[in-house]
Amino acid sequence: MITRLIDAWDPAHSGGIFTYGGAGCYLYGIKYALNSVMSNRDIRTNGLYSTRVNIICSQQGHYASKITADWLGLGTESVVEVATTEPYNEMDMDDLEARLQACQRDHIPVVSIVCTMGTTDAMAIDPVDKVAALVEKYPNPPGFNKPLIYCDSVSGWAFLSFRGYDFEANPLQFSHDVNNALRVTYEKMSTIQHADAIAIDFHKTGWAPYTTSLFMVRDFAHFESTMSRTKSAYIHNRTPYNPGLYSLEVSRSAAPALAAWATLNYFGLAGFRVILGGVVEMSRYLRSIIKSEPSITCCNAADCGLVTVFRVYPEGIDAERQYAKEMSDASEKTRAELDRHNALQKDLADQIWEFVRSGQKIDGLYAPCCNYSSGFRKTQYPDGDVKVTQSEIFALKSFPMNVNVTKEHMDHLIQILKVLTRRVCTR
Ligand SMILES: *Cc1c(COP(=O)(O)O)cnc(C)c1O
Repeated sequence: MITRLIDAWDPAHSGGIFTYGGAGCYLYGIKYALNSVMSNRDIRTNGLYSTRVNIICSQQGHYASKITADWLGLGTESVVEVATTEPYNEMDMDDLEARLQACQRDHIPVVSIVCTMGTTDAMAIDPVDKVAALVEKYPNPPGFNKPLIYCDSVSGWAFLSFRGYDFEANPLQFSHDVNNALRVTYEKMSTIQHADAIAIDFHKTGWAPYTTSLFMVRDFAHFESTMSRTKSAYIHNRTPYNPGLYSLEVSRSAAPALAAWATLNYFGLAGFRVILGGVVEMSRYLRSIIKSEPSITCCNAADCGLVTVFRVYPEGIDAERQYAKEMSDASEKTRAELDRHNALQKDLADQIWEFVRSGQKIDGLYAPCCNYSSGFRKTQYPDGDVKVTQSEIFALKSFPMNVNVTKEHMDHLIQILKVLTRRVCTR
């Protein structure tokens, strides 16, 4: 079912394995890449010794990269972060090329280039087709095979359900704006076909229970032969399907696989499309009200994902202008303002969290959950030795995954934030 959502993948050759989370998929992805790149060296028996290797990912990528590097014994220093471009937070291809040149110059093999396909901040989606072209251009040193491309697609994967959707005719009647956002996201996601391995969290954009994660590879026979161990003498395989020979887990539950299978059958393509369209519609609606509020500004207006990242300022401040100033002006005065306004975002998120925790209603409605990010973006000037609140942009974050969220809830969220801001500012 999943492979049929990916253009160049073939269901007869691809395959996968369920594991304990997106972080587990990451571990599978990098271990598979490591075994594949180093297949000429007996690292399975002897370990890496002191061979230095690199994992390359974007600076917007998930910290699962560090967990994996640490737990595999590669060390977190092996993770090389590539700069991202604004406004879409995609991996900067010039910077990636420079990093690959540096690895080649220093004779350090690259194990994997990890493409981030959807993040929980702004919907960063790396262009896998361009990454694949660079993998061909910069081979690993002699004796090492080519790096594998792993896509950390745990949250973006669901948009693949738009494969084959006729965006022109738009039979599900999404609004023009939503239809366009879905098309853009799908087109970026569809470059996933160039990956060697991908990851899917059904507990994120599949609305399934924790943890329902699927690690998938384009060439399952290659994965199996690259990962398999000589079998244990006391287990006799009766069937051709023996994941115990090549997977991380020994005993495991079938529940996640069944949950995913049930979800896919229950939703169908139309179900995924409608739910995602609805969620994106709510996020577009939120952005539209933010636009009409002079003291609030959206920090990711250009991207087409479902997360809205925004900053709330005290009444009377022109949010858009102030935000632009805070991004670019390194003067003492503006930094102090940035510091103060960052504190305001945190304060607002903490108060909303308290409302959510206590189940308190405001004007008859529960407070919508709204988180914050303490490092959505760095200021555009070199940050030197200043503290984080004076060089990072904090922002509130709306992630409306609940299918019951309505426009009324979004209006309510903005009203609550305005009331709270007034209170904080007169305190
Ligand atoms: C959530 C997430 C992970 C970690 O997945 P878990 O299922 O929480 O282990 C990794 N990468 C990205 C991009 C994520 O959004």
